[in-house]
Amino acid sequence: MKFKTIFITGASAGIGQACAEIFAEAGARLILLARRREKLIKLSADLLKKFGTESFSIECDVRNFKSVEKVINNLPQEWKNIDVLINNAGLARGIEKIQDGVLENWEEMIDTNIKGLLYMTRLLLPDMIKRGEGHIVNIASLAGRYVYPGGNVYCATKFAVKALSEGMIIDLNGTGIKVTNVDPGLVETEFSEVRFRGDKERAKKIYEGYTPLTGKDIAEIVLFAVSRPQHVMIQDILITPTDQANPYILNKKSN
Ligand code: NAP
Repeated sequence: MKFKTIFITGASAGIGQACAEIFAEAGARLILLARRREKLIKLSADLLKKFGTESFSIECDVRNFKSVEKVINNLPQEWKNIDVLINNAGLARGIEKIQDGVLENWEEMIDTNIKGLLYMTRLLLPDMIKRGEGHIVNIASLAGRYVYPGGNVYCATKFAVKALSEGMIIDLNGTGIKVTNVDPGLVETEFSEVRFRGDKERAKKIYEGYTPLTGKDIAEIVLFAVSRPQHVMIQDILITPTDQANPYILNKKSN
């Protein structure tokens, strides 16, 4: 990964932050994007201290096309050649049934998980294509393979990401650009706290009674996929905790 430039969206927490750490350790330079600037600044300082990593932090909301466009068009010259885009920024909000659905939640999930990913990809791909190399990693989900109760719109956004990964693989054939879709099962991050709007107790319960994945577990897989030789493209990865067979079968021990 030496001298490679990795652009990570949603780098301020969870899987994105773990990707930043693992790619930093592997010698890459990083562009870190999220809305919480103070988290990025701290991460960037920590990575510099620990690994001597060069990084560029961007406070941006991926839902806002104009902001994303401005950020990408104004990247300093030395940060313009992106080797890898990790489309990770994403979230779930609520678990209401469709008939009780909260429009604001639906819009936030659709705008972040689908449209944000599309904006980033659309803006960065032309340059990758011009250079004849690049790699897009889309963090989708097990929720993009199965619909679970209350998952409705979140699952729909992740089914969409999966479809987009497949579409990208088709459209980019012959350009030298690789695409990898990553579907994690249960990973302990801020994800559930965000889903339950700051209810820490409720969020904690999601990860009790079994060993969930960590952000690092996913980051290691992403690093593996991205560091294959140019002629090898890992298209699709499903990774779950050993205790999770699918969204409905989880070996949870009650105490
Ligand atoms: P997390 O800890 O809550 O991290 C989410 C990241 O996305 C944060 O850095 C957040 O940063 C960023 N983000 C959210 N909305 C954004 C926006 N509008 N603009 C820019 N950045 C935004 O959750 P995570 O588990 O690491 O989730 C990362 C990805 O993995 C998501 O796409 C999620 O759907 C997927 N995933 C998670 C799990 C799981 O069990 N945790 C399983 C499968 C898939 P700011 O708040 O600072 O903007």
